[in-house]
Amino acid sequence: MVSYKELGLVNTREMFAKAIDGGYAIPAFNFNNMEQLQAIIKASAETKSPVILQVSKGARNYANQTLLRYMAQGAVEYAKELGWEHPQICLHLDHGDTFEVCKSCVDYGFSSVMIDGSSLPYEENIALTKKVVEYAHQFDVTVEAELGVLAGVEDDVVAEESHYTKPEEVIDFATRTGCDSLAISIGTSHGAYKFKPEQCTRDPQTGKLIPPPLAFDVLDAVMEKLPGFPIVLHGSSSVPQEYVDIINENGGKLPDAVGIPEEQLRKAAKSAVCKINIDSDSRLAFTAAVRKVFNEKPGEFDPRKYCGPARDEMTKLYKHKIIEVLGSDGKAE
Ligand SMILES: [Zn+2]
Repeated sequence: MVSYKELGLVNTREMFAKAIDGGYAIPAFNFNNMEQLQAIIKASAETKSPVILQVSKGARNYANQTLLRYMAQGAVEYAKELGWEHPQICLHLDHGDTFEVCKSCVDYGFSSVMIDGSSLPYEENIALTKKVVEYAHQFDVTVEAELGVLAGVEDDVVAEESHYTKPEEVIDFATRTGCDSLAISIGTSHGAYKFKPEQCTRDPQTGKLIPPPLAFDVLDAVMEKLPGFPIVLHGSSSVPQEYVDIINENGGKLPDAVGIPEEQLRKAAKSAVCKINIDSDSRLAFTAAVRKVFNEKPGEFDPRKYCGPARDEMTKLYKHKIIEVLGSDGKAE
């Protein structure tokens, strides 16, 4: 058993309380490899933004749990080396689906875990979430739960259709489970194909898809039931068209990829939404940069020569999200 405190990490409690008061949101960036981690830490250190390093069950298997623990510890030290005196870095499990995987993460140095029982019947979701909360809270690890179903694909999580969170359930759920934050479904979606073309309208000038707006009425109703309670948005990548275009122009094939417009996320960040999950945008930035090098320099075979530009592109993307969308810059001096 290793405590996250020994690794220099923090849980989400104070981060979220400050974010709600301050009208901004904490970025939760998923990572799977060293270059992504370097880019996240560099962007956070340079902007002095609190940050959540997010690892899915699949990413944990990909990277190895022991290596991950030391990568997180290394991230804290790297941040200090970059001149960030008091780094506020959280290591969070994204979409834990069993008590066992959540317990294992708590035992391996995670400072926060998500238990996603959203596909279960309501009472079973409560029972599972409560069990995880009771274990995690013994070690001061914070717990995110989910009510409502997001559409889309993320690792093992696949849902055809979304079901908005029912505001009438949230008080009962939060009270009985004791969870620290709640992921809700208001129309965001996992992956780079968040909406089918028939759900969108088309811009007559550019021919690009315009997605349907988020259900802010559901968010407002949830906030009215649970004033000041930390709310989380999953599936909140914007799928920048510039990256999709670079990928498609350099041998890729991502037709009609579409995300959540940034102005909607900006609006959400000012509310009780205090954690916004971004994964696909970083994947797109990485892939666009790598494809460009491969296309322009077919003789290149040094991974540093294509992972390096990918890392730079992701750093630029993360800084943009922190400063221009979430407003979390300068919140962790
Ligand atoms: Zn998610």
